[in-house]
Formats: sequence, structure tokens, C-alpha cells
Amino acid sequence: MKIYMDGKFVDAADANISVFDHGLLYGDGIFEGIRLYEGNVFRLEQHLERLWYSAKAILLDIPVSRAEMAAAVCESCRQNGLRDGYIRLVVTRGVGDLGLAPWLCTKPTVFIIADRINLYPPDTYSTGLSIVTVPTRRVSPAALPPAVKSLNYLNNILAKIEARQAGALEAVMLNEQGFVAECTGDNIFIIHKGRLLTPAVQEGALRGVTRDTICDIARDLELPLTETHLTRYDFWNADECFLTGTAAEVIPVVKLDGRLIGAGKPGPVGHRILAEFHRRVLTEGTRI
Ligand code: PMP
Repeated sequence: MKIYMDGKFVDAADANISVFDHGLLYGDGIFEGIRLYEGNVFRLEQHLERLWYSAKAILLDIPVSRAEMAAAVCESCRQNGLRDGYIRLVVTRGVGDLGLAPWLCTKPTVFIIADRINLYPPDTYSTGLSIVTVPTRRVSPAALPPAVKSLNYLNNILAKIEARQAGALEAVMLNEQGFVAECTGDNIFIIHKGRLLTPAVQEGALRGVTRDTICDIARDLELPLTETHLTRYDFWNADECFLTGTAAEVIPVVKLDGRLIGAGKPGPVGHRILAEFHRRVLTEGTRI
């Protein structure tokens, strides 16, 4: 496997990071997870826009241009002979000393891994997931804007462990006010009486690229969509529920906190959205 590392392609075994890199020492850095479908990098421009917004938010200067980054992503896929896969693009603060000071880090580290990913067992895409709400709350926007896709995932990892302890593959995370924010690596939607509802980004949800795609699909299918405050009660009494994420794609949820959602199986509105999603992933984006 070839890895893009600071402007060069190297073998995976030679793609090493310094122990003084602040991405490792402090989680000081940002990333994107991007999908490749039949040679099409899905919504590459939108991912790069979010990466640059994350960089601006943490005062990190990405050392390559957006066009160079786009070219490096496509070249990573070609170098690895990938037509379908998952691309992980990471920019860290770079090598510094043992203190926090990011201004002592000389140059951000940029690397790109183009590989494959299977987030959930294949059968859960047709049967649906059973998930739980966990005690760990989504980090407060006052502490760290959840819109920044940073390398600090401990908050999400604690929630993921709590889900596993409860026998579930994914966790619903609430914000400090007790409203539903998102899952550990996915956004969440419900359908209630023909309306599509999802937590507003102000509730602590990442501005997901897949979430945005679903919002566009809802508009085109003329499904009313509301981004708002939602409680667990709203989820328990929904007709359908699904999660969205680049790695997860669109996956139905049939049970939350021991309550069956709707009929306890994937529903018709979710199916319609999913069919449209599969159509779009081949057309919206950048050919490698
Ligand atoms: N929320 C979190 C916390 C995530 O890590 C992700 C995955 N990147 C998402 C939501 C989904 O975002 P996207 O659709 O852009 O992958």
C-alpha cells in the first residue's frame, strides 16, 4: 500500500510519524474521511472545504493548496489501484517540543491513506441496527466546536465503549441540555408522519457531508425536513430512523434504548432515500 506523506508516496511500512508530532501528543490536528465510488471521489470539494474550515478554526495553516490536496487524494486512489474505497486525509500540527505550544511546531504533517472500510456488519444494512443512548455527553460547543473535525475523538470513543458495554454497535449522544446531538461517528435522522427530522448542527452535530446529501435528497423528493431540537422521546416514537456517515453510508436503526422504532424493521421512506443516495454517490464528486 502506498501512503501520501508530506508530498511523497511511500510504502505503508515507511509512512512514519515522529513521536514529537502534536497530532499524536495532543490530538492537535484535523482530518477528513472520504469515499470513493466506482472511481468517483464523492463530494471531494465539500470535504476539502470542511477541512479548510476546521484548519481555520484551530489556526492551522495547511501547507498545500486546495488543488494540490485534491490531486493528492485522487493520486492516492490511483497509486493503490482503488476504484471503491475510503480515504483518510489527516493534517496534524506537526513536530514540536513536549509543551503544548502549537507555534513551536515547524510544519504541519499531511498524510493520506486510501484503503477500504467496513464499519458495520453487512447484514445490519438490511436488518437495521439496535442502538442505545449513552451517559457520556457530546462535548460542549463552548469547550470545542463539534463542527471542527479534529483528531480529539476521546469523547466519541468513551461513548462507543459505553455502547459496546450495553451490547450495541453505536451510541446516541446527547448534548449538555439533554437533546440528541449525533452518534459517535454518524449523524442521525428520524421520520415521523412523513417528515424528516434531524438534530440542528447547533445541538452538537457535525455538519456531515452525508447529512448534507440526505438534506438535498429530501428537498428533491419533496420530503419536508426540519433541523431542530430533538429529544429521546421523539426518537422512541419515530416511524423510522437511520444513521448517516461517510464510512457508515446510510444505515437503518430499528431499536433504540429497548424501544422498537416503528414496525421494528427498515421503513419505506428510508428505502427511497437510500436508493437515491446510491444513485448520487456515482455522480456528485471528482473522477480520479
Ligand atoms: N459525526 C461525527 C462525530 C463523525 O465523526 C462523522 C464521520 N466523519 C459524522 C458525524 C458523519 O459525517 P460525514 O457524513 O461527513 O462522514
